[in-house]
Amino acid sequence: MSNWIKAIFVFTIVVFTMSGWIFSPIQSKIDVLHYDLKFDLYPDESLLKGDAIITCLKLDKSAQDIMLNFYDNFKITELLLNDRKTEYSNTDNQLHIKYNGNEDTVKVEVIYEGTPKHVGLSGFVFGEINKKNIVYNLSEPDFASSWFPCNDIPTDKVLLDISITNDTSMVSVSNGILLETRTNNDRRTYHWRTRYPIATYLVCIYSADYVTFSDKYISQDRLDTLPIQYYVFANQLEKGRIDFEDHPKFIDFFARTFGEYPFIKEKYGVAEFLWQLGAMEHQTITGIGSNFITGKKYFNDVYVHELAHHWWGDAVSPADWKDIWLNEGFATYSEALYAEHVGGKKALQSVMLSKDKDEFKETLYDPGENLFSSTVYNKGSWVLHMLRRETGDSLFFQILRTYFAAYKYKNASTDDFKKICEFVSGKNFNKFFDQWVYKGTGKIELEFGWTVQKTSGSYNIRITTRQTQTGYDSYNFPLEFKFNIDSSTSILKTFFIDKRQNDFEITLKDMPHDIVPDPSNWLLADIKKK
Ligand SMILES: [Zn+2]
Repeated sequence: MSNWIKAIFVFTIVVFTMSGWIFSPIQSKIDVLHYDLKFDLYPDESLLKGDAIITCLKLDKSAQDIMLNFYDNFKITELLLNDRKTEYSNTDNQLHIKYNGNEDTVKVEVIYEGTPKHVGLSGFVFGEINKKNIVYNLSEPDFASSWFPCNDIPTDKVLLDISITNDTSMVSVSNGILLETRTNNDRRTYHWRTRYPIATYLVCIYSADYVTFSDKYISQDRLDTLPIQYYVFANQLEKGRIDFEDHPKFIDFFARTFGEYPFIKEKYGVAEFLWQLGAMEHQTITGIGSNFITGKKYFNDVYVHELAHHWWGDAVSPADWKDIWLNEGFATYSEALYAEHVGGKKALQSVMLSKDKDEFKETLYDPGENLFSSTVYNKGSWVLHMLRRETGDSLFFQILRTYFAAYKYKNASTDDFKKICEFVSGKNFNKFFDQWVYKGTGKIELEFGWTVQKTSGSYNIRITTRQTQTGYDSYNFPLEFKFNIDSSTSILKTFFIDKRQNDFEITLKDMPHDIVPDPSNWLLADIKKK
């Protein structure tokens, strides 16, 4: 997700606080295999009629019930377990269904209706624009259960059939591929299906009076043609055509950098919705707020960010929400990688410098309730940038490709990623992850000073560094200095900082008139001359 409000020249990070998790340990006792979801939408009454068939494995044979997450504000008109009526309760947003049978595969069908609650950043929305209805959702992290019963955790990835019925004037879009449309009098059904597993927070509906246009991307092996489909409101058509036209280039770049686009047998798409704070990486069909379609390509970074989530978040999903930087830090660094691809090293540096402006009060791993803080996005991207400096480019991109290949269509934890870093590079990353991910907060604060002693024919330079930050006692990192001799000559030299206070010496033939720390901006650090 990108949660940016970016006016034309202003860039603001909005920090959202999330609370009210509804996770329960009992959820690990089932493994959902498939959701067959049918939704009848009546936007004028804000009414959702749902029929959810959930096929799951009961992992704990001794459990006396099946527990699903499901908000308790709906009227359940029928509930069947393996096609038979059974006892159930729906309180505290949990659906407990009595079951003490022996079969390990269980089919639950819930038929229900009501108006979904507004929860989280947006939830399920019956909205209106230009006097026309639009229905959409934004469920991250655990609000899919506000509109259908599910095991609402990112690790229970599933296959999905989703049918959306609305008035014939409405185009209804979802994840995966469109299997069929059926029209019955003034109602039309769109049946979408995924052939790749999907996490519940990425399941989506968009239903509006859309106009559509399309493009395509040819896979790296040239065997697949991926349709790229765009859905916008009629008054945005020309702007959308301009803004979205670089998507084949974006996909091509990430496919070459990380590995082939992971949903190559389905589609990529973008649908306009009314969440005006940003965009959401719903699997194969990103939602983009109307504000981010300008006809002037102001928001390529947002489009790139959401597309990159299809590798980082959608294909490789987090093992836990404590690992959310694996989604957001990676998608944010992907913006920098694309900028570098287009504009070179200077563009990379300028994007990274724009992302070091905060205090980063939380730890990167387990940021508590601040799942969408700038720590998760911006410090997350800086950690990848510094990892790249530690490993060098070829190992860094090999790490990303190996991590993607190992965990695509599955879930990965921060420790899984660390293990891949160590496996590929042959280096120990305990200290790096300790200081940047698990324990340290904030950034490096460093003072440095230098003195010169002239000896026969050379200059002996002594540099002292002192770490002054409070968020972590003593960071280890390589620190480059640039010794400017005159306007056309400079010398680069890297020292390894491994203590709160370090001293280094270097002998130069010429007297430097200036010393610049970290001249290529590889460190998340405030460095001051004493
Ligand atoms: Zn994001």
